[in-house]
Amino acid sequence: MSGERPAAFVGHEIYREAAYGTLHPLAIPRVESVVDLCRALGWLREGEYEASPRADEATLARFHDPAYIAALRDACASGRVDAQVRARHGIGTMENPLFPGVFARASTSVGGSIRAAQLALAGRIAFHPAGGTHHGRPDRASGFCYFNDPVFALLELLDAGLERVAYVDLDAHHGDAVQDAFANDPRVRTFSIHEAGRWPGTGAASDIGGGRSVNLPVPRGFSDAELRLLMDDVVLPLAARGAPDAIVVTCGSDALAGDPLASMALSNVALWDAVEACVALAPAAVVLGGGGYNPWTLTRYWSGLWARLARHAIPDTLPAPARAILERLACDLVDEEDMKPEWLCTVADVPAASAVRPSVAALRDETLARRDTARAAA
Ligand SMILES: [Zn+2]
Repeated sequence: MSGERPAAFVGHEIYREAAYGTLHPLAIPRVESVVDLCRALGWLREGEYEASPRADEATLARFHDPAYIAALRDACASGRVDAQVRARHGIGTMENPLFPGVFARASTSVGGSIRAAQLALAGRIAFHPAGGTHHGRPDRASGFCYFNDPVFALLELLDAGLERVAYVDLDAHHGDAVQDAFANDPRVRTFSIHEAGRWPGTGAASDIGGGRSVNLPVPRGFSDAELRLLMDDVVLPLAARGAPDAIVVTCGSDALAGDPLASMALSNVALWDAVEACVALAPAAVVLGGGGYNPWTLTRYWSGLWARLARHAIPDTLPAPARAILERLACDLVDEEDMKPEWLCTVADVPAASAVRPSVAALRDETLARRDTARAAA
């Protein structure tokens, strides 16, 4: 199914502007490096790239509290936030800093996810790597997320009259705010694979949200073989059982080996396979970015993901102009001795052999048993 659909890349030049100050884990090149690498490799042909529109305040108010929208707009304009607003809305903190352009940037990521949903409804596989701010709450910033663009992609799909929509979150952190946003909406099923014990601490295996959420908290060192097991035995069959009309996938690159804020051990190839399998489940598909704090692994993952979705061939080694893009990246959180030479000259990881640990097999069994019990009771 996915083979027939052309892909569309939604981006914006706004992501080249400095953001998050200097000390924040997101103050690294991200979307712009993906665009640059894709362009250097000839992967953004005429008609494939589209500039993101910006969501207006009336649109933002469909999910976000108008008082919060106004607070972020005014704080951004004045460059100041008072203690009451900081406490009430979580902005101007170390976690969610105030920086010039934050309001436009966050509104643009919402507009991009809405546009991605429209492109998906029109038959394109829509890739919006600036999206995936899955922790944003109706009335407050949370976990580096000011607004919640995945919620808006899902709302756009529901507005089109779709009755069955799946959300799959493959970021290293639980997709808490998306799950909660649709807890009372029988049209949306959510799935999240995330590292156990990480912030925000939600998403236990026993957490089924409003009854349509599946949470798979996985141990440190989560491997390719383990991802394949949970996708093939749990996520894909359970999502397919709902016969989704559309799917939204959040692809935080913090799930990769080498991320400084998580301890999963996935290769980008395993994640590309997982995302492609999700895309194939539904006639309309939106693929979003998410977290990710190692600019080399992020740029390789999301560029290669675009190549897979858009059917561009990935070379074994990169030509000099493409290498130059990876060589000029920098990141204080990644120690030089942890740098892998292949991060500078390839896109695809060479997956290491991996095994499935008993705890991950048990997580699968427990999740399937819980679903069967729920179905028997229904
Ligand atoms: Zn994350």
